Amino acid sequence: MLYQLSYAHHGNSRIVVCPGAEEQAKQRTIDHPNPLAQELKTWNLKPAPSTPECEKIMGTMIDLDHPEIGFAVGALNEAAQLAKRIQRKMAPTALTKEDKSPVTVADFAVQALLGRSLAMAFPEDILVAEEDSATLRGTPQQGIQNQVVESVAHSVPDATLEQVYQWIDRGGKESGHRFWTLDPIDGTKGFLRGDQYVVALALVVKGEVQIGALACPNLGGGSLIIAVRGQGCWRTHLTGPEGFEKLRVSTCEDPAQARLLRSFEAEHTNVGQMDALMQAIGVSAQPVLMDSQAKYAVLAEGTGDLLFRLLSPAYPDYREKIWDQAAGSLVIEEAGGQITDLDGKRLDFSVGPLLTQNRGVVASNGHLHEAALKALRAH
Ligand code: AMP
Ligand code: MG
Repeated sequence: MLYQLSYAHHGNSRIVVCPGAEEQAKQRTIDHPNPLAQELKTWNLKPAPSTPECEKIMGTMIDLDHPEIGFAVGALNEAAQLAKRIQRKMAPTALTKEDKSPVTVADFAVQALLGRSLAMAFPEDILVAEEDSATLRGTPQQGIQNQVVESVAHSVPDATLEQVYQWIDRGGKESGHRFWTLDPIDGTKGFLRGDQYVVALALVVKGEVQIGALACPNLGGGSLIIAVRGQGCWRTHLTGPEGFEKLRVSTCEDPAQARLLRSFEAEHTNVGQMDALMQAIGVSAQPVLMDSQAKYAVLAEGTGDLLFRLLSPAYPDYREKIWDQAAGSLVIEEAGGQITDLDGKRLDFSVGPLLTQNRGVVASNGHLHEAALKALRAH
């Protein structure tokens, strides 16, 4: 075959689909009429040009021909471009959700765009996503709804507010046998500071993460990382069709040399316990503070060695949300690392939107994992 990916155009929006995906999607459209899926018929499929970049893509072992993988790469890239545009252009305003966490125009716009893309590509698939339209509908802040619609309209020119609400609410909190999970802006606080944030998307089947993808606009000039179970963890640039490079965790076995990562926000962790753990393990350098699953990307590319998500003393019963962990966990595993909860248990993605069976997270290059768990048992 001359190409692995082809590009479908609808208005200004570009979604990468793979040969065969259109036929399958059309079939689904016939079986399950869906107004969004109908739009597939207007897509104009074109083969990607045969360039050296294309050959680089073909030289990888990741199966970009696979509809779900092609979808994750294309839809995430498009969503990340939208997030970047909003971070560049808009004054950073945030609304406050019921749980007191911030949410921005970008969270809503990215979830709307991805909700729409998923409805078009896989109309039957469930999406478990962080946001819902209630906060946006209910905000007394003037102009926020318009900003969300205008942002989405950059990709979907005729988008209306009602459609945007519907696309956001394509993501609910009910999971199932097969579902996607999305954090439209993971690290909203980092996004507001102009620091690290990611768009995180994962496909979970029978409780196992099968695809984990992180778009990291502010990491290393902007990267997109995709892990596929059994096919490794790969990185490409967000800015253009570059080749994919395989990622591998570090080989660091010496705790004294370990580069530790933790949340930027002190209230998302336990700083006192972190100090005690570092002493027990023998880590000498202070941890790098970073928002979001960008930390998992850093670990997977081998520029960090160990990461703790400890329970804040203020929230001892905090349970992780699946959209904060699913994509990152496969990224770590497929790069050769290890990820468990603080008790050494595997993360269980089969029990709903919260990881109720797990406490916190420890992730490592594998070599340092046992030392980390041993220190946790003592501290
Ligand atoms: P990070 O920047 O790694 O701390 O991750 C950001 C994520 O932390 C957000 O998406 C929140 O869902 C999550 N979060 C919010 N509150 C807490 C908390 N008390 N402990 C741990 N994580 C939290
Ligand atoms: Mg998050």
